[in-house]
Amino acid sequence: MAKIGINIATGSLQQAEIIVGIDLGTTNSLVAIIHPESKLPVALKEFNSSSLVPSIVHFDALGNAIVGEEARNFLESDPANTIFSAKRLMGKSYQDLVNHASFFTYKVIDTDVDSLVKVQVGDQFYSPIDLSSLILKELKNRAEHILKTPVTKAVITVPAYFNDAQRQATRDAGKLAGLDVLRIINEPTAASLAYGMGLNKEEEKTIAVYDLGGGTFDISILKIAGGIFEVLSTNGDTYLGGDDFDRAIMQYWLQQIGIDFHAVNNDKAQLQSLRLLAEAAKKTLSTEELFSANWNDYSVSINRITLHEILQPLVKKTIDCCAKALSDAALSVLDIEAVIMVGGSTRVGLVKEMVANFFQQEPNISVNPDEVVALGAAIQADILAGNNKDFLLLDITPLSLGIETMGGLMDVLIPRNAKIPNKASRQYTTQKDGQASMRISVFQGERDLVKDNRKLAEFNFTGIPGMPAGMPKVEVGFLINADGILSVSAKELRSGVEQAIEVKPQYGLTDDEVEKMLLDSITHAKEDMTVRALVEARTEGAQILEVTEKFIAKNTALLTQQELVETASAMQNLQMALTLEDKNLIQSKIEALNEISRPFAERAMDAAVGGALKGKVI
Ligand code: AMP
Repeated sequence: MAKIGINIATGSLQQAEIIVGIDLGTTNSLVAIIHPESKLPVALKEFNSSSLVPSIVHFDALGNAIVGEEARNFLESDPANTIFSAKRLMGKSYQDLVNHASFFTYKVIDTDVDSLVKVQVGDQFYSPIDLSSLILKELKNRAEHILKTPVTKAVITVPAYFNDAQRQATRDAGKLAGLDVLRIINEPTAASLAYGMGLNKEEEKTIAVYDLGGGTFDISILKIAGGIFEVLSTNGDTYLGGDDFDRAIMQYWLQQIGIDFHAVNNDKAQLQSLRLLAEAAKKTLSTEELFSANWNDYSVSINRITLHEILQPLVKKTIDCCAKALSDAALSVLDIEAVIMVGGSTRVGLVKEMVANFFQQEPNISVNPDEVVALGAAIQADILAGNNKDFLLLDITPLSLGIETMGGLMDVLIPRNAKIPNKASRQYTTQKDGQASMRISVFQGERDLVKDNRKLAEFNFTGIPGMPAGMPKVEVGFLINADGILSVSAKELRSGVEQAIEVKPQYGLTDDEVEKMLLDSITHAKEDMTVRALVEARTEGAQILEVTEKFIAKNTALLTQQELVETASAMQNLQMALTLEDKNLIQSKIEALNEISRPFAERAMDAAVGGALKGKVI
């Protein structure tokens, strides 16, 4: 597929609405569209610059965010205020990240191991959604600048292994950036589309998508049939990529010139210059045989054979993951009909060789591996825009469906544009000790507060056996059948108590009303998310106060007088903050209370602190 430089002059095109495809990557992000004239996908870029935007956000002293190349310059000089790899935090709790804490050079908050992480920069707290939305906003601005037209609709890609919470977080980030996210699609699916796979309804194929980027490796085995992509298995290593290749080259050189790695470890500037040379060597050796350069007073060089020797163990790891993915899908290499290469690091000769060897076939490398995912997202966007007449859209949900949770928030179970039939479920818990019933209110719409959405139904789920708050596990299930009828069920998993109702979601809404609900959600995204963040911070604060209170009542003897006084004062501060409208203040008071109470929990080895409340509270 040829790449075309485009410059769409204002007014020269009678252009239908543009829907962009966005690859929101861990290291780099980019936007692509279907060129209105050539009908081919193209990655957007300014004249003479790269289509890739580093997924990095830097906050200056005033708290203003800059994104992209400029932000990257602060990685070394101002690590605490420069956020990279925000994608790794999406939908994650601190517990999920605790083994990789040293990877992050900025402050990731661990208020409660089970709740979602936040990043602290100065006195501001950012959720991964806030951070991703800043990157998306930058991509939107760049696209608008290049296309000279407003960009409000997008398809965004996520890794195939992203769970429901991570996908919802990505949607929310889009909304906050002022984008109507038409669909979230899997990165390997997008890559296949860019190679034209899955576009023909008759086609049936099993393929492997090998994605080796700067910091992560993913292998996905997909089955394509009737235009539907099914993920058979995924595997990978979320901390393996081109950066490790660079490090291996640096270590080789240091060893060659007889310098101990630890000796330069503290000299960030020296390390950085060596790292850049190593990356240059790696890239050069993808096409040439030898690389040599000067570093300080030393001359460093490496040839392709040596490079392949030192990278072999790293690439071998990816091949082991491929073998596992195949075995999880209960397939052998002979079942794989095509292999698609994604990510800048697949340009390394050894990677291509070892992948070809393992799968016993030549992989597809003709589309730029940095752009292939975004190009595929653009193809999906074009299909959703109805421009690709050969590709019929399956029935989809016009608006998101969800239930009301604590503080009047909308918790989406089935996002809009999801295929029908569909089902989803999520666990919730109780707020009060001994709570025997739970009101389940079902809503349709895109706004964050249920009061702005449309209520479809409500029922009182009764018969929950008496248990302490946070203990019951109530699974709420949504099932939309092929006729678009939604059944909502609730089941307390510990006791098996169950209840269900049926609703017809679309009933009574005209297309115009649906359109208005969508538009409102974008225009009000910022205020909605602000209220949501405040409600969530308040809920978290109230929970922590309650748990701490119970803990103190039970364990007074374990604490010194001074500790009791300090705790009481921190609790009072938090209580006070809960009455104000400032989520950053609430977060900082939660953090302060946690700083004080963390050692108590360890001392008492009492699982009650911080860990009691799993699931969300309705
Ligand atoms: P991605 O995350 O897909 O953007 O991949 C970025 C990674 O690809 C970085 O580690 C780059 O150093 C690496 N990369 C980019 N171009 C080349 C090349 N020509 N040869 C080898 N690695 C490359």
